[in-house]
Amino acid sequence: MEPTLPPLIPGTLYLVATPIGNLEDITLRAIRVLRECDVVAAEDTRHSGQLLHHLGISRPMLSYFQFNEARRGAEILARLQRGEKVALVTDAGSPGISDPGERVVRAARAAGLRVEAVPGPCALVAALTASGLPTDEFHFIGFLPHKSGQRRKQLEALRPVTGTLVLYESPYRVARLLDELVEVFPGRTVVLARELTKKFEEYLRGQPAELVALTRQRSLKGEFVVMIAPVDETKGQGTAPPP
Ligand code: SAM
Repeated sequence: MEPTLPPLIPGTLYLVATPIGNLEDITLRAIRVLRECDVVAAEDTRHSGQLLHHLGISRPMLSYFQFNEARRGAEILARLQRGEKVALVTDAGSPGISDPGERVVRAARAAGLRVEAVPGPCALVAALTASGLPTDEFHFIGFLPHKSGQRRKQLEALRPVTGTLVLYESPYRVARLLDELVEVFPGRTVVLARELTKKFEEYLRGQPAELVALTRQRSLKGEFVVMIAPVDETKGQGTAPPP
């Protein structure tokens, strides 16, 4: 017999994690929240509309992305104040983690409204947990700035930091990042987690120069999480796998 599930709470903002590639990676609770909410606020309504369609769910949607966060945030707050249940999703993974969300969460909390996370996929957690690198202490950097000088400065500032460093990078800039790591972290082990949860998922491990050599043999496409091992972990951690 199915347990009786408590209904969603009126006036709550639900932050719903969605798959980062594999559509099976959605929790039962995420599905129920998406089905029972009054409105789904989405970074890209077309993209998330396809997920809802795949799940057999039809709900009103509103767009909430980087450039309308202020205006749409106010609308979301007004809806919550009226007692609506609002689910916030981004294109992939956990809202607010290098994705829209933080701003409306702050505003909702400041207004004394209820906020709940509906946890699930997150590229950072997936990459780190299967990387073989230390997980007891890690630092999530997110995306580096685009400008060369600022990137270099931030990377250099990270050199003395202990623990595993975890970065997000766009597929268009991953080769550039590896070149920068050759300069700033030459002796460290770096792990590239590519295409997580997807058909061509793989982990590539080596010193930055070895990974650069690898990218000359085969072009690296897809999405990446880049992890840098702490100094002590680097010794004897192996080289890049054969192509
Ligand atoms: N909020 C998302 C999360 O919780 O995973 C991250 C959004 S951020 C805009 C997108 C970045 O996450 C990508 O550039 C990449 O670094 C990483 N990413 C997302 N999906 C990935 C995947 N399937 N494999 C590897 N990295 C991924």
